Amino acid sequence: MKFEACEIDISANKKDAELLKIDPQVKAETDHLYEGVKHVMPYDEFVIHAPYIAAINRLKKEKDAVILAHNYMTADIFHCISDFRGDSLYLARQAQKVPQSLIVQCGVHFMAETSKILCPDKKVLIPDLRAGCSLASGITGRDVALIKQKYPGLPVVTYVNTTADVKAESDICCTSSNAVQVVEEIAKQWGVDRVIMVPDEYLARNVSAQTEIKIIAWKGACEVHELFTGDDVKELRAAYPGIVVLAHPECPNDVVREADFAGSTGAMNDFVFTQKPKQVVLITECSMSDNVAIENPEVEFIRPCNLCPHMKRISLKAIYECLRDEKYEVDVDPDMIVKARAAVDAMLALPPRNANVYDVKAIVPDTFELVSA
Ligand code: SF4
Repeated sequence: MKFEACEIDISANKKDAELLKIDPQVKAETDHLYEGVKHVMPYDEFVIHAPYIAAINRLKKEKDAVILAHNYMTADIFHCISDFRGDSLYLARQAQKVPQSLIVQCGVHFMAETSKILCPDKKVLIPDLRAGCSLASGITGRDVALIKQKYPGLPVVTYVNTTADVKAESDICCTSSNAVQVVEEIAKQWGVDRVIMVPDEYLARNVSAQTEIKIIAWKGACEVHELFTGDDVKELRAAYPGIVVLAHPECPNDVVREADFAGSTGAMNDFVFTQKPKQVVLITECSMSDNVAIENPEVEFIRPCNLCPHMKRISLKAIYECLRDEKYEVDVDPDMIVKARAAVDAMLALPPRNANVYDVKAIVPDTFELVSA
């Protein structure tokens, strides 16, 4: 784990910013936005972003578009141009609710697909088609079909971090904030004591520690969260005595067991907002700390830096070009939308509950099983 400050490459923006005029109008349109990011960004850096921020906000109005930003976007995107901010499911639901029919998804490809599944009549754009995800690319719909053949009669719970064809083969979706509830509810509905849960092995292990339901999981992982180890957390505690450690459940179980609290990005955000720890570390993607720190200036954040290379493909320049040229449109086959939508709707039909908080001391049972296709 690296402890140095997170470095985002802004050279592309710097070069292209020369093409966009930095004039008094840009200054007038953006200076108030600096207030929101000043805790995490020096003004010298902000002025490099400012022409893009102004141009994107103008284009957004002109085209009546809405910009959705995931929690792992950099602060310039998250705080200066986005209309809605949150996790992938929250963003997809906002896409459904807003009157605008042009959506720019600042996140990775499966997120744009999820928005398209929930609102097929809208035009959904992603600024960089290469923004993938190691979880989503680690399994296919065919893999899920083969697993179902191996375990007939068991429901498939699929993490939202998957492609539409994987969702289409699934019975219900889940997020890290409702995974335990989804596993227990679907087992009850099917009258079984085992479920298949794909594709994240670590999330599945952490969920299996919280429930009596036995879990059969796929060996997928988030390439960002799998890098953290329990020893990293011990080192942090030694370096910063008294620090409060929050971990995302996509981390390996030894990380969760060393943490003080484990939950989704939304649950981590709520924890910091309500508990106001003096010093905190979020064991998750790097940009999340900046975005939570902005809302909680009195809390000191220690930032172990693991960046998601896919999320970081989304830059202000890419968003500007995406809006200007209305590229790249994300399309999903209509038949697949119907099937994938059924799995998402099954999750949304569950009674609303507070976000799962994972018992960090719970142990992964011996019944936990891994499957390959
Ligand atoms: S942080 Fe992990 S789960 Fe999220 S997009 Fe990146 S690789 Fe995928």
